[in-house]
Amino acid sequence: DYAAILAPNYQIDRKQIQMIEALGHGQFGDVYRGILKTNRQIELDVAVKTCKEQDSLTTEKFLEEAYVMQKFDHPHIIKLIGICTTHPILLIMELAKLGELRSYLVANRNDFDVITLLVYCQQLSSSLSYLETKKFVHRDIAARNVLVSNHECVKLSDFGLSREIDNSYYKASKGKLLPVKWMAPESSIPNSEVIDKIENGERLPMPSPYCPPKLFELMKECWRYEPSLRPSFTQIEGSIRSILDNERSN
Ligand code: ADP
Repeated sequence: DYAAILAPNYQIDRKQIQMIEALGHGQFGDVYRGILKTNRQIELDVAVKTCKEQDSLTTEKFLEEAYVMQKFDHPHIIKLIGICTTHPILLIMELAKLGELRSYLVANRNDFDVITLLVYCQQLSSSLSYLETKKFVHRDIAARNVLVSNHECVKLSDFGLSREIDNSYYKASKGKLLPVKWMAPESSIPNSEVIDKIENGERLPMPSPYCPPKLFELMKECWRYEPSLRPSFTQIEGSIRSILDNERSN
């Protein structure tokens, strides 16, 4: 239970952290598995994000993710545990022991049943409907940004691109790299190959013969060209729950 361990202001003393091994490379620096020793003698496995540059612009961008993450408290969103605010700056997060969902899916591709995959969808739809109620858009939902805690539990992570919406809308600034293939057509770059295909009505096919037809229906609803005709995450969560219940009773 992380709630008992969180420092009230998220400040963590560097001496409390022991780095164990590198887990991957982030945009700002390496990410490590580490151990956090709390003053109550509890030892906790954590993920530690590092920032190699020390200039204030980079540091500010790096810390933005922490400012966003600290607003959330959901069982399927990676929790921020704390920050070391002296250089080198560290973000301490809940550790997802099995790493990125994308590589987990590829490495174990023959070991998933439909129920497990639907459980992942249900968990992620609940985290996204939670963000929706908080008026937050993640802006980079993809399997590479989902982490696996155990075979039955996935969590949304990587809030580097997320935004709070204040009734207005935002536009991508020129020159920024954006995940076009994962984006809605109206938020994506005009005159790109993907947009042309979408505007011509092209959509991805059913992902597998085992995909429940109701799930493919839901996917197509999410891909509707007209934004107002797409379901909200709260609706998606409800649909996935009933698809899952239906599969379980079969
Ligand atoms: P950035 O968003 O800064 O580019 P990521 O969040 O993608 O960095 O992290 C880089 C890699 O580190 C991820 O692909 C993943 O393998 C690993 N990683 C990041 N956060 C965690 C975590 N909480 N638990 C386990 N592994 C993590």
